[in-house]
Amino acid sequence: MVYMLPKLPYDYNALEPHIDEQTMRLHHDKHHQTYVDKVNAALEKAPAWANKPIEEVIEEIEKVPAEIRAAVRNHGGGHANHTFFWTVMGPNAGGKPAGEIGKAIDRDFGSFDNFKKQFSDAALNRFGSGWAWLVVDKGKLKIMDTMNQDSPVSQGLVPVLTIDVWEHSYYVKYQNRRADYIAAWWNVVNWKAVEEYYKKAGKK
Ligand code: MN
Repeated sequence: MVYMLPKLPYDYNALEPHIDEQTMRLHHDKHHQTYVDKVNAALEKAPAWANKPIEEVIEEIEKVPAEIRAAVRNHGGGHANHTFFWTVMGPNAGGKPAGEIGKAIDRDFGSFDNFKKQFSDAALNRFGSGWAWLVVDKGKLKIMDTMNQDSPVSQGLVPVLTIDVWEHSYYVKYQNRRADYIAAWWNVVNWKAVEEYYKKAGKK
């Protein structure tokens, strides 16, 4: 398998004004494409691994041959993380989740407002480049953050929501104001997609 850049599931300007079109074009067409190109290049040296879906490769990252493991962790992780990230955002989104995910958030965090505060703090306090995540760990929702392109999938956890806090996600519009980007990002969270990931996680 040679990995391909997936098409964005909406227009580049669909997340305006919260996430601007120029950022989406650079982030998807340039940054994500580079992760795809570089993981493909790394896996040329390990063709057996190149036949697996990227999530499986990331899940088993410790078994990937040592000489390419760092490249696969970074660029394969970058490909997997961005592919997932695009799907948990959308136009006409945001607000407070209903359904099973809404109930599970209340159950595990006390309230949606508590959850939102804790998740925003994780995203804000992630030092340097990385991601904040909502994951399912043995049936329970948990917030965590990862550095660079590391994925909770490598720790056996199931992501249901994520925010990219690399500067390339927000610098064009928000410059150094990561907190403003995070606050705006809540308006584009696609809770329907999060609900689907949560339901699937329960079946694993
Ligand atoms: Mn990114």
